[in-house]
Amino acid sequence: MSELTPMMRQYLQIKEQNPDCILFFRLGDFYEMFADDALVAARELDLTLTSRDRSKAKDDPDRIPMCGVPYHSCEGYIARLVARGYKVAICEQLEDPATAKGLVKRDIIRIVTPGTVTESSMLDERRNNYFASAYGEGGAYGLAFCDVSTGVFYATFVSGSQADEKAVGELARFGPSELLLGGTADAAALLPESLQTRLNCCVDHGDAALFDYEACRAAVEGQFRQTLAQLELEAAPAVVRAAGALLTTLKQVQRSDLVHIRVLEYYLSGRFMELDWTARRNLELTETLRSKDKRGSLLGVLDKTCTTMGSRLLRSWMEKPLLSPALIGKRLSAVEELVQKTVARKELRELLRDVSDLERILARVVNGTANGRDLVSLSNGCTRLPEIRAAVSGLSASLSQTLCEQLDDLENLKTRIDRAIVDDPPFTIREGGIIRAGYSEEVDRLRDIMSGGKGAMAEIEAREKEKTGIKSMRVGYNRVFGYYLEISKGQTNLAPDYYIRKQTLTNCERYITPELKELENTILTARERITSLEYELFVQLRQWLAEQVERVRLTAGAVAALDVLCCFAHVAVENRYCRPEVDLSGEIVISEGRHPVVEQSLKDSLFVPNDTTLGVGGDNVAIITGPNMAGKSTYMRQVALIVLMAQIGSFVPARSARIGIVDRVFTRIGASDDLAAGQSTFMVEMTEVAEILRNATPRSLLILDEIGRGTSTFDGMAIARAVLEYAADRKKLGAKTLFATHYHELTAMEQELPGVKNYNIAVKKRQGEVIFLRKIVPGAADDSFGVDVARLAGLPDSVITRARHLLRELERGAPAAPQAQAAAPAADQVSLLDMAGDEIRRRLAAMNVETMTPIEALNALFALKQLADKAP
Ligand code: ADP
Ligand code: MG
Repeated sequence: MSELTPMMRQYLQIKEQNPDCILFFRLGDFYEMFADDALVAARELDLTLTSRDRSKAKDDPDRIPMCGVPYHSCEGYIARLVARGYKVAICEQLEDPATAKGLVKRDIIRIVTPGTVTESSMLDERRNNYFASAYGEGGAYGLAFCDVSTGVFYATFVSGSQADEKAVGELARFGPSELLLGGTADAAALLPESLQTRLNCCVDHGDAALFDYEACRAAVEGQFRQTLAQLELEAAPAVVRAAGALLTTLKQVQRSDLVHIRVLEYYLSGRFMELDWTARRNLELTETLRSKDKRGSLLGVLDKTCTTMGSRLLRSWMEKPLLSPALIGKRLSAVEELVQKTVARKELRELLRDVSDLERILARVVNGTANGRDLVSLSNGCTRLPEIRAAVSGLSASLSQTLCEQLDDLENLKTRIDRAIVDDPPFTIREGGIIRAGYSEEVDRLRDIMSGGKGAMAEIEAREKEKTGIKSMRVGYNRVFGYYLEISKGQTNLAPDYYIRKQTLTNCERYITPELKELENTILTARERITSLEYELFVQLRQWLAEQVERVRLTAGAVAALDVLCCFAHVAVENRYCRPEVDLSGEIVISEGRHPVVEQSLKDSLFVPNDTTLGVGGDNVAIITGPNMAGKSTYMRQVALIVLMAQIGSFVPARSARIGIVDRVFTRIGASDDLAAGQSTFMVEMTEVAEILRNATPRSLLILDEIGRGTSTFDGMAIARAVLEYAADRKKLGAKTLFATHYHELTAMEQELPGVKNYNIAVKKRQGEVIFLRKIVPGAADDSFGVDVARLAGLPDSVITRARHLLRELERGAPAAPQAQAAAPAADQVSLLDMAGDEIRRRLAAMNVETMTPIEALNALFALKQLADKAP
């Protein structure tokens, strides 16, 4: 191959340092991509693929594929690539190509990855975007989480039995978009497998050097300006490694010091209620099971915040329900005051609406990517702060007062930005037009020169016109020739000798004069100096703002918390919620509780409220029976959601509620109810139940919804019963348990086991119709409604009649006799009593062996064998 062009050499060298990124290589007004990058980008972004010479040789047969995007609209393209899990390295021209000698200097200025984007156009503003890091060794994990777009940083440690599961649960809590993995080989290999499916995120494997303990320790201590001892991380090397590697990666990707990340929040399990991945999904906390929509989830009901910062904080409170009645009480008291003070609440909410996303703008200020518009929106966002502070200072709840102290008017920030930046600055900061008149004497002076120069230009035009009598003469400007005098073809003969001809066009000639050139020089020099001066001034201001990071961060945090508290109050008033009493009694007593989401989705009927008493006097287990569609699942979820809402500090949908703190909520939904999972998932279901029984404590709340459905009736019932016995037995587990089942037989356990109570959801039968009353009442359900529900669902009359007949037989204890009318294909397991034997006999009798083909005979035999296998 012949010698590469210098630019290609430069390209390949930069590409080599960033092999896993798509390289956006700045060439004039475009970012170009080459080779494989070009192929990927052309496919993903629908760009036209072209090619370019690779070497200096003429007619190089070996051209390189290329495609590009205009630099001013690159954000959208980058966003699309990042959203699909690619990383994009942005390579800029570091000098002006017009003045550079030889090859323009270029280098990477930033790498954009799913976990590190800060551009508002690429982020969901209502949720945090976490980059997570996990380091596994010796069956334990250090975990770290950072949202670079806001500056929050968390770390934690999980160990003990099921550490993998716990780590996944903790990761699920944050839902990161990118995960850095490291650790001893087996730990690193273990985690991603179960992760890939559950956490839909981009996984990077870090090498050992990145996780080197000493390097990580230095990174952590340097970033947070505290020793490991002060950070309480001395005894947690895995956490230091995870956090250090994460910081190193972020710095490298962002090319910044990350000065907005100054607080490391180290927490250990036991500070927050634990909710594993399945429970989060099943309870539809932040999105619905099927459509993955926020609407229809608890967050959809609760999130009436006024700011994006508040919206993110609410989500994060929902991810981490509290365990301390005192802390929860503080939030509840603040909410209660806001519920009562209607005027203050409404005023505050109005004011909050005007606060912009201080956290994310600040992150861009610190990273040096903020432009003039960002600063203007930062300043506008501060306008209401004094009023907000005044409004909050009138509140007496202790949490509100603490927040008030944290609130800074940021008045001097605002004044300085307003003085420096014009109202509507341009998108780029390198082309001037950004600094307001009066801010810098030098800028004003240069601007005067420029406008003076332009005035002088106009004077020259007028004077020359008069002198020469050329009516068509005018002054023009272009990039190549600078300023010129233009004369149309008919009058060129009138041009004086001292006019120097520069350019001939079809119907005019262009000239310059020495005077013109001199003036041009003054104007252009002034313009050039202004642009670079404005840029300098802007960067200075941005740096000064970056130094104010701590004040802005605290203020932003206070605004977000106020917003969530006001939101809770607003939602409580709108939906008639009550303040729950929260204590450590271990009892859950709810009067007239409602399901917060379902009650809102009912259009033409009213939601029927229901009471709950759990854990009082040792009655820990409630078995709930009732036909399909009675409302069992709704009721059980409602209890879990009310507990969760109480523990994040929200009012709850009930007339009154007393909630004993719950340390974990587990939910399992029987396989056939879990449509999303598809396939036969009995195995999955059993693993999950096993996991619950291993991890639950007496303070846990278990929601078991028709477990055991994924297998044959007897297996399922036996397992369900064994699980119930275990959960109820205070020597073994003794956790509060809500257990919905269609195995009517299980209701006998009320008599056999202490602490077990039967409930059912009442239905009424009128002239053969079932009416759902939605009311939970003590006692077991009458189990004969299944057939009625089937009728309601539209099964053919003949099937219903036959089913009723079979049911009567079964109730009498006699095996259902095979009858001639049963010509329909065999239904699997109509009930507990197995009828496979009769079915086999019936089918055999119906066969005409003489007329069967061998294949038919084989198929029939296969079907019979299957039936026989199902028989107990
Ligand atoms: P099950 O689990 O017993 O089959 P679901 O809990 O799925 O029943 O409830 C079925 C439907 O009944 C729900 O979609 C809801 O619309 C309605 N429903 C449930 N509980 C109530 C209630 N307390 N008040 C009004 N409607 C309810
Ligand atoms: Mg159900």
